[in-house]
Amino acid sequence: MYDFIIIGGGCSGLSGAMYATRLGLKTLTLAEMPGGLITTTHLVENWPGVISTSGPDLAMDLYKHAEASGAEIKSERAKKIEQLEDKDGCPQFKVITGANEYIGKTILIATGTIHRKLGVPGEKELENKGVSYCALCDGAFFKEKVVCVVGGGDSAAKEALFLSEHASKVYIIVRKDFLRAEPLNAARVEKNDKIEILYKTEIEEIVGTDKVDKLRFKDGKELAMDGVFLAIGHIAQTDLAKDLGVELNEKGEIKINRRTETNIRGVFSAGDCCDTEFKQAITGSAEAVTSSYYAYHVCNSGEDVF
Ligand code: NAP
Repeated sequence: MYDFIIIGGGCSGLSGAMYATRLGLKTLTLAEMPGGLITTTHLVENWPGVISTSGPDLAMDLYKHAEASGAEIKSERAKKIEQLEDKDGCPQFKVITGANEYIGKTILIATGTIHRKLGVPGEKELENKGVSYCALCDGAFFKEKVVCVVGGGDSAAKEALFLSEHASKVYIIVRKDFLRAEPLNAARVEKNDKIEILYKTEIEEIVGTDKVDKLRFKDGKELAMDGVFLAIGHIAQTDLAKDLGVELNEKGEIKINRRTETNIRGVFSAGDCCDTEFKQAITGSAEAVTSSYYAYHVCNSGEDVF
C-alpha cells in the first residue's frame, strides 16, 4: 500500500516524487519515459537558480534529485486507475499497469501533453522523413538545409532559434499576424538573419514522397523545403483521469483548485495536463509540490505536515 502514487515522470511528476518522499509519504512514481516533454527543449533559461541549462540536463537533475531523496520510480505506463472503497476513512485507488497493480491512498496525475498535429496531407506520411515535432532531436540532420517551424508561440520561436544553428534558412510559419513568444525570444528571432517569419500563412499540404520537397499553402503558393518542424501547441493527456471520473474542462484539461485537488478526494493533478492558464516547467513542479503537501493531509487524517 502506497500513500501517494504519481503518474508521470516529467518535471511535475519528478518534483512531486522528491517532495513527497521528503515528507515521509511512501511514494511510487510511474514514469514510462522519465523526463517528459522538457527533454525535447534545447534551452531552459527560466528555471530559478539555474541561469541556463538544457531540457535533458534539467530532467536528469530532477530525476537524480528524486532518487537521492529515496523516491521509488518504475518505468511502467499506467493503463487504468480504479477507485476502491475507502478504508479507515481514507480513500483508496488501484493503478493498473501492463505488468502490475498498485494500491495507493492518494494519486497525482501528472501525465502532461502530446504534440498537436496539423492534420494536413503529407504530415503523417512524411513523419521522420522531414516532418518532426522536435528540433532538438532532429535539427542536426538539416545542416545547411532549408527548414520551417509551424506555429506562433514560444516553442516555435525557440525551435527556430535552435534550428538556425544548423540550417541555412529557417522560416517560421504563423497563421496570425503576430508572434506570441516570450519577448526575449521574440527579440532573438527578430535579430537572427537566418530566420524569416511568414505571417498569415497556412499550410495546405506537405509535399514529398521519400522526403519533404515543398510546402503548398492555402493561397496556392509553394515553397521548396527540406524539413518541417511542428510547434503548434499541445493536447492534454487525460484519458486516464477521464475514465476515473475526474472532471475536465472543455479543452480536456483536468480541473484543479488552488490545492491542486480534483473533484475526487485523494486525486490531485499537476503540470501541463491541468486547466491552469500559465504552463511552465516551474509552475508544474510547484503544483506537484503542493499536491504532495495536501496528499499528506489526506493520508494523515488532516494533520499538518510540520
Ligand atoms: P502555444 O502557446 O499554444 O502556441 C501554439 C501556436 O501554434 C500558436 O501560435 C497557434 O496559433 C499555433 N497553432 C495552433 N494550431 C495551429 C494550426 N492548426 N495551424 C497553424 N498554427 C497553429 O504552444 P507552445 O508555444 O508550445 O506553448 C505551450 C505552452 O508551453 C505555453 O504556455 C508556453 O508558455 C509554454 N512553454 C514553456 C516553455 C518553458 O517553460 N520554457 C517553453 C515553451 C513553451 P494561434 O495563436 O492562431 O492559436
